[in-house]
Amino acid sequence: METILGIDLGTTNSEVAVIRDGQVEVLGEDGEKILPSVVGLDPEGRMLVGTPARNQWVLAPDRTLRSIKRKMGQDVTVRLGDQTFSPQEISAVILRALKERAERQLGHAVRKAVITVPAFFNETQREATREAGELAGLEVVRIINEPTAASLTYEAHPDRLERLLVYDLGGGTFDVSIVQIERDVVEVLASHGDTHLGGDDFDQLLLDRVCDDFAKEHGIDLRQSLAAKSRVLRAVEEAKKRLSDDALTTLDEEFIAEKDGKPLHLRREIARDELEALIEPLLAKTLVCVDQSLSDAQLHARQIDKVILVGGASRTPLVRRLLEERLGQPVHAEVNPDLCVAMGAAIQGGLISGVDVGPVLVDITPHTLGIEAATLVEGVPAFHVFSPIIRRNTPLPASRSEIYGTMVDGQESAGIRVFQGEDHDTRKNQFVGEFLLEGLADVRAGNPIVVRFDLDLDGILKVTAKERATGLEKQLVIDNPVARFRKSNREAASQRLDAAFRAAGMAGAPGLPAPAVEPESAADDLPEHLKNLIRRCEGLIAKAQEVAPKATPDDAEEIHRQVQELLAAIAERSDAKIDKGMATLEDLVFYLQDA
Ligand code: AMP
Repeated sequence: METILGIDLGTTNSEVAVIRDGQVEVLGEDGEKILPSVVGLDPEGRMLVGTPARNQWVLAPDRTLRSIKRKMGQDVTVRLGDQTFSPQEISAVILRALKERAERQLGHAVRKAVITVPAFFNETQREATREAGELAGLEVVRIINEPTAASLTYEAHPDRLERLLVYDLGGGTFDVSIVQIERDVVEVLASHGDTHLGGDDFDQLLLDRVCDDFAKEHGIDLRQSLAAKSRVLRAVEEAKKRLSDDALTTLDEEFIAEKDGKPLHLRREIARDELEALIEPLLAKTLVCVDQSLSDAQLHARQIDKVILVGGASRTPLVRRLLEERLGQPVHAEVNPDLCVAMGAAIQGGLISGVDVGPVLVDITPHTLGIEAATLVEGVPAFHVFSPIIRRNTPLPASRSEIYGTMVDGQESAGIRVFQGEDHDTRKNQFVGEFLLEGLADVRAGNPIVVRFDLDLDGILKVTAKERATGLEKQLVIDNPVARFRKSNREAASQRLDAAFRAAGMAGAPGLPAPAVEPESAADDLPEHLKNLIRRCEGLIAKAQEVAPKATPDDAEEIHRQVQELLAAIAERSDAKIDKGMATLEDLVFYLQDA
């Protein structure tokens, strides 16, 4: 079967994907799947594509071209050094680099490609894209819309009508589309956007803020020096990306300027709140487009089956929050938002060449993980508030942090209680572990504590709490097999469980969770009667594990459920619930033993 490449020819970045062994694969090189859509000439006049071209952009703008996609379809030429080119020719250089990358990775020549374009591209722009492909030595078998491609990664083989809202926020452009999928027909019902709005604008706002503050402090405007500006721009972009995961980050650029013969350094903390306040007006504009596209498609938000995020800048947490508020449903970003357009183009290529394409597999966390916090609701303190840190459906591995404040003046310690679940009230979620950060500084209420969650591919959660002012830190590692099943690897997960049961001298029972393991210190603190109760529970759970493999699937499922309930009751330390859970499970085991 002939290979057909799927190519996302983006304004800022481009990617290439193929179907290999029935699975979609984005082809990277040197660990990099993204190719910056930048073309340049080096000082010797040799052509540069991708990262090396992007690196020279600020210092050699006359020899570097970015965002050529904006000019596709226009009857213009662009200058590169002392030569002129058409936009198609520059795009062809990028496409050719992707084609050659694919050929090196696949080990054979490739001739055909599906290339994506924005839904708002007119016929001339589409034709120019096709021409660019041909100039790069590719037969363009189909041009498809970017939101259509993104939808295909979520719905490769739909058998019922589904409507998706695709929110695509890239480096320099934004668009939102309503896509309808019915059987094999994918249709863009409405599309709106702003061709000059994206993550680069966030960088600019942050750059201005940082440079203004620096100028106030030192009387030097870093924007006046090309070299300093390019360093700050790069640093704020990296800081912005880190703030998608962390609540706080630090800019640290040494020797950025000089005053009175002495070097000046740029050192500054940026909190996520500060970035969010800067970019919120821009995101408000994107929400207007969302409303407009819904109204054009004559649909209400509740008629949308799925909201999906595309484009690097859609990783900004505020985007997700604002969209969820506006649309009243969770948004999906399981498939890498930078890569899903290329992946969808490859799926389309696979469908054209008749290859059976499997679903896109991603490892995600199926539950939200967070901590218990107290907050003021209309002036009244509310306890048991669940504050999410890693949200459900986040691709793994994942690291996220949030900042909390102490409640009272002179607070000496902060209790970190970790839960998983989807309820706002921690009492309705599952408790997974706790620890105390002791020895806090004697300061007023609001002492910032940064809580960081690192969740790896094996479901091991590392929780770190750190007092921001002093660096005082404590950590808890929770290896909780109940927390999740790797979506793509259920079998391996159940084998791991089996091995764990055997190691503990218990009969193997795939599908049953292992008893929750409490951190030792926490278990030591338990009152004696609770310890006894838990010991009895463990005996009962072991019995349930013996019975389950011989039971019918329905009964085994019921045992599984009751064991989960009992584990949750143990985690909650609730005598009444433990008693009730044990009675139910005992009845079930008794009945099944006799059956
Ligand atoms: P794209 O055009 O889809 O490749 O998106 C590029 C834009 O996404 C640039 O402005 C990047 O700085 C931005 N971006 C990439 N990763 C992140 C992230 N983790 N958080 C926020 N913005 C990001």
